[in-house]
Amino acid sequence: MEISTFEAIITGQEFLNELQEGIWVADEHGSIVFANPSLARLLGYDNTKVLVGKAWREMFPSTEAARLGKSKPQGDMRIVSDSVILGCNNQVIPASVAVVRKTVNSTTWYLGSVIPTSKPSRPSDLMDSTSRQVMDYAVDGICAIEKGRIIYVNHRFEELTGYTVKQLSCMNPEKLVAPRNRRTITQVITQPQTVLLPIHHEVRIITKDGHKLDCELRIVPTETNTHTVLLCFLRDISQLRRAQRAQTDFIATVSHELRTPLAAIKEAMSLLSETTTGVLEDRQCRYLAIAREEINRLNRMITNLIEASRMESGKVTLRLEPVNLEEVLSKSLESLSLFINKKNLKVNKQLPAKLPLVLADRDRLLQVFNNLLDNAIKYTPTDSSISISARVINPDAPVLSENNVLPGTGYIQVNISDTGPGIPAEFLDRIFGKFERVDPHGPGIGLGLAIVQSIIQMHHGKVWAHSTLGEETSFSFILPLKESHE
Ligand code: ADP
Repeated sequence: MEISTFEAIITGQEFLNELQEGIWVADEHGSIVFANPSLARLLGYDNTKVLVGKAWREMFPSTEAARLGKSKPQGDMRIVSDSVILGCNNQVIPASVAVVRKTVNSTTWYLGSVIPTSKPSRPSDLMDSTSRQVMDYAVDGICAIEKGRIIYVNHRFEELTGYTVKQLSCMNPEKLVAPRNRRTITQVITQPQTVLLPIHHEVRIITKDGHKLDCELRIVPTETNTHTVLLCFLRDISQLRRAQRAQTDFIATVSHELRTPLAAIKEAMSLLSETTTGVLEDRQCRYLAIAREEINRLNRMITNLIEASRMESGKVTLRLEPVNLEEVLSKSLESLSLFINKKNLKVNKQLPAKLPLVLADRDRLLQVFNNLLDNAIKYTPTDSSISISARVINPDAPVLSENNVLPGTGYIQVNISDTGPGIPAEFLDRIFGKFERVDPHGPGIGLGLAIVQSIIQMHHGKVWAHSTLGEETSFSFILPLKESHE
């Protein structure tokens, strides 16, 4: 390197070494011939030697370098500001960069200076051009939030919200969310460093023209070298939710309509069985009993349909009170005693001598026992047994760390097992969904367990199933203890 020529441009190399900002000088081919210690430090290198001989354009990400390459310098000087540079191991560093082209004695030199900035990253810091295209044209709306500001949105996000990129970049992202969801979202946006894993919410978005959209929102934290950027993925599910609401309303209306004629049939049958309408033969009495049993079954199905749609539309509220589980269990077994006796089933109860009270809605809890025991009885072969046990669970039990469960609260666990055909493993989770049945031609309409799950979840509990095919099925649920709430 001709140091004399270099000194002709900037005198005092010592002075450059002392500067706080990173400085480099490159020859006309773009190879770095000098870099000061601040630049090496800034890029994460131990010394300046590794930089000498490198092309200065390599300090920029490919998209940025392409952009720089395209812009033809006008005259002697060119400035690039608010850019990023690539440090050791391709670390992206936001920086204000100035590059000057100078020709002295017919030799051209490039002089560059870098000052790190904490200004907002640009989308190009976060992704290369391929990922950028994938994001730009994704089916879901995508936006990136940095320090409470939207720094990137794709086309679908603009379409969904009705706002343009420009409008979104200078508005508070919380404003896009309906007030009822705002608190959770605000917390995530203002404290992004607390988001360690992707989170998933169902939120209502308010569009620019005031429309409400039900959306699934997934927030994924990504780390830049200095802070957390939140990538938000938005999927419009309002059509799906509308269809579900229509289905729920339809089921509720039809079920109510079916109830009236059914009540009339039941009433007529009671009159028939009364001796005042004439004495019936034994055979007639038997037929009447079968009809009455079937009407009751139909009634139970309709009640379940109405109940499931009420729960889905959020119309059910709990009347919480201290409840003795054993009492509710006995009541349920009593109402099912006819079926238990008919199948000659043995009921094994294993309950602690003094079971603590739970905080529950008594009628709803009865419904939980009725539905679970009804299944156990239905699927257990004649002359076998069903078992019911309950115990206070260990505060360290993994189930108590799940989402819906109340923290720092004691819980009781109830198990109901039968020796029926079992449930195939692939059905164990699905079985709690509405209208799910292992055998689509089997009895029932598949609402009992969906109702059980809704009731248990409303109590901040959890219900799950275990099964060994051909051997047994066991349903377990947990409920909070009454003491924990005092
Ligand atoms: P339904 O209200 O029609 O009885 P459920 O929601 O209670 O429906 O149950 C759904 C399905 O789960 C049943 O159709 C059956 O396939 C399966 N199932 C529930 N309980 C048991 C059990 N104890 N043993 C075997 N299969 C069961």
